[in-house]
Amino acid sequence: MSADALAGLIAELPEGAVVIDPDILASYRQDRAFDPNAGTPLAVVRPRCTEDVQATLRWATANRVAVVPRGMGTGLSGGATALNDAIVLTTEKMRDITVDPVTRTAVAQPGLLNAEVKAAVAEHGLWYPPDPSSFEICSIGGNIATNAGGLCCVKYGVTTDYVLGLQVVLADGTAVRLGGPRLKDVAGLSLTKLFVGSEGTLGVITEVTLRLLPPQRVASTVVATFDSVEAAAQSVVTITGKMRPSMLEFMDSVSINAVEDKLRMGLDRTAAAMMVAATDDRGATGVEDAEFMAEVFTKYGAKEVFTTADPDEGEAFVAARRFCIPAVEMKGSLLLEDVGVPLPALAELVGGVAKIAANHDLLISVIAHAGDGNTHPLIVYDPADAAMTERAHQAFGEIMDLAVGLGGTITGEHGVGRLKRPWLEGQIGPDAMELNRRIKAALDPDNILNPGAAI
Ligand SMILES: Cc1cc2nc3c(=O)[nH]c(=O)nc-3n(C[C@H](O)[C@H](O)[C@H](O)COP(=O)(O)OP(=O)(O)OC[C@H]3O[C@@H](n4cnc5c(N)ncnc54)[C@H](O)[C@@H]3O)c2cc1C
Repeated sequence: MSADALAGLIAELPEGAVVIDPDILASYRQDRAFDPNAGTPLAVVRPRCTEDVQATLRWATANRVAVVPRGMGTGLSGGATALNDAIVLTTEKMRDITVDPVTRTAVAQPGLLNAEVKAAVAEHGLWYPPDPSSFEICSIGGNIATNAGGLCCVKYGVTTDYVLGLQVVLADGTAVRLGGPRLKDVAGLSLTKLFVGSEGTLGVITEVTLRLLPPQRVASTVVATFDSVEAAAQSVVTITGKMRPSMLEFMDSVSINAVEDKLRMGLDRTAAAMMVAATDDRGATGVEDAEFMAEVFTKYGAKEVFTTADPDEGEAFVAARRFCIPAVEMKGSLLLEDVGVPLPALAELVGGVAKIAANHDLLISVIAHAGDGNTHPLIVYDPADAAMTERAHQAFGEIMDLAVGLGGTITGEHGVGRLKRPWLEGQIGPDAMELNRRIKAALDPDNILNPGAAI
């Protein structure tokens, strides 16, 4: 890449949009997967509008320069890992939002944090449900590009269920509008959904039209501790077979203790597992649902069950669950899994992960959006210890193989990124893999957008 060519991009964009300061470039090399093989980008581009993104992609295509789209870099599978001589295109300056309380929709630029979208719509008495644990630090664009899940998704669905429309800039710089503020719309192929979860490989999302709901009702929370991780996991099928909890989360003993070390909230350090469940149904139904979950936990051998209708008490347990990844991260570097299985296989998955941990003499903590069958085994290792690092990587692969063998997936919500790409074909098979490649080639024939990620 010649200095002249980059000067061409600098000239096309507003002053300050192209950053080449090496210290700043360094801070955009990795996402939260902390890939040690991350490259150093040629420049970081900070567009403010769709036209800036178009100019960047037209320039990138003309000069055959790869572009890595980036939101807030909280991704856990290396999807926003920088490549040598590429552009990192960050949406952090694209932060407008307009809320329409009549159609119950919001039109947002991608760089707003999930929490900021929630706050902006709440001012109009509305609710944007998807709530990844990282909601205070991740962007809405990143959520759409990964089809993020979260804690209330067991009842309310994941990000894609709230995406009515998108504006997307393709590799050649064309900006297309897909969908819009219509609750039902089946005109043409389902292209809006194609871009949801496409991990920056098909286009850059520059605007989204979101579906909003009336505010969530105050929930009752049911917390149960167990001596057996399998028993806790087994309770999930029984609960979801009869009702729709608004949250059904799982923490194992490692995560309970790691959280307790920091938050000192009196969690039972001796428990093998803890379930944090909630129901936001009203009146008698809500009371019955909370009682039902407490009964099921007891039936599966819970050693203690605690129910509260106090929102602050309930929120303290939700905060504990949200804090699991940062808390376990304090024990060492993490290889972070995102495997999911059909619900009846959840206990077998959790038990199988424990065996893999024992076989490789590793600490693996398991937390889960249990009601969605989506677990996060967190493999703790020391990168300075070569033998341990190798065992951790072996375990990483074995856990994905285990999940696929149980009819599951290598990723329930974080995306394939760069870390899980070698396992993708093993899950979806050669025909679906080829179809993925053909779609990528049709939209991005020069492989400009996020090469090496996802597909
Ligand atoms: C403590 C912690 C807890 C987490 N909990 C959850 C959870 O409960 N549920 C969950 O789903 N995830 C969770 N995550 C993962 C992460 O926060 C999500 O994947 C989030 O959606 C990423 O958003 P981001 O803005 O950080 O995106 P980035 O990490 O910057 O990017 C993620 C991917 O999206 C692409 N991308 C970003 N913006 C765009 C755009 N505008 N157009 C096209 N492509 C784009 C990137 O190329 C990359 O492939 C957690 C992460 C942490 C650190």
